[in-house]
Amino acid sequence: MEEHLIWIATALFVAFLMELWAGFVHGQMWHGFLYLMHRSHHEPTGPFEWNDVLSASHAPIAIALIVYGCEATPALSTTLAFGVGVGMTLFGLSYLVVHDGFVHGRLPVSFLGRFTYFKKVRAHHHIHHAKGGAPYGFFLPPLRTSLTEASAVREMS
Ligand SMILES: [Zn+2]
Ligand SMILES: [Zn+2]
Repeated sequence: MEEHLIWIATALFVAFLMELWAGFVHGQMWHGFLYLMHRSHHEPTGPFEWNDVLSASHAPIAIALIVYGCEATPALSTTLAFGVGVGMTLFGLSYLVVHDGFVHGRLPVSFLGRFTYFKKVRAHHHIHHAKGGAPYGFFLPPLRTSLTEASAVREMS
């Protein structure tokens, strides 16, 4: 029982940290020395983008942590590894569904537009696409502004 609480709490905390980490790597690396690949996300391309490789780059680490957590001799370290892997996966799937699926229309999830929060996420992310600058974060920046504010900034850009 206690073990479940540990990995669930770890997973939720890591999913939150991943948003901060994603905002950091997006601003410092994707728009830095890796812009060569990230550019494919800011220009019209076909069904797949070179940027997808960047998006998927954390998946092998998450898989390895989950496998280690399940297969190695049970200990606190394996419980934590499993939690970190699940948290990374939770963030990765959310990002895939909301960013690629909803905001960029690559998956049939337009129903998310019924929720104000996701409309705000979309408005904020469009600011990034219009200007190529901040916000680099995805899930957190929209929490600080109202939808009208987010849309107004978008109109201006
Ligand atoms: Zn985007
Ligand atoms: Zn970008």
